[in-house]
Amino acid sequence: MQQYTEPISRLIKAFAGLPGIGEKTASRLALYVLNAKGGYADELSAAIGDLKEKVMLCRECISFADGETCGICNDPARDASMVCVVSDYKDLIALEAAGSYRGRYHVLHGQLAPLKGVGPDEIKVVELVERVRAGGIEEIVIATAFDADGETTALYLKKVFAGSDVRLTRIAAGIPMGGHIEFMDGSTLGRALQGRQEA
Ligand SMILES: [Zn+2]
Repeated sequence: MQQYTEPISRLIKAFAGLPGIGEKTASRLALYVLNAKGGYADELSAAIGDLKEKVMLCRECISFADGETCGICNDPARDASMVCVVSDYKDLIALEAAGSYRGRYHVLHGQLAPLKGVGPDEIKVVELVERVRAGGIEEIVIATAFDADGETTALYLKKVFAGSDVRLTRIAAGIPMGGHIEFMDGSTLGRALQGRQEA
């Protein structure tokens, strides 16, 4: 990276830190920003600056929000008795894009991964337990991934809520083993929600 002048190589390094971006692409992006017209660089820098400052966690579902609570939790048309548990925000977006789910969510911000040292304290489980304790939730739909960590997380949730009045279901039909929610198409996700089974 010796050939680039410092501010450019700094941006290249920042872009190269993004997932799926190699050094070549990072260089191309940085030079694009440098040459872009119409205030693009300012808009990019403002958007990135706002990200950490203006995005917070919804105090209900722990999803990303631009206020104390998110748009879904604020929507009176959404069924508050049903909570779909997803491992991350990308999965919530995928389920919303599928368009068939009318309940609310809970975002764990991770999945249990004992071998990688991710235990219950590292994901947002306590918050879910507190929500259930506060009352009003009748069904928890577990929509963690169908891989080892997702299954471990689903089993753990089952254990946590065993003996409570809450009905626990797991989305099922059409999700292949090892499947990740975010990569499912809308109709598959719709069927998976419809076909959910007792966990
Ligand atoms: Zn929310």
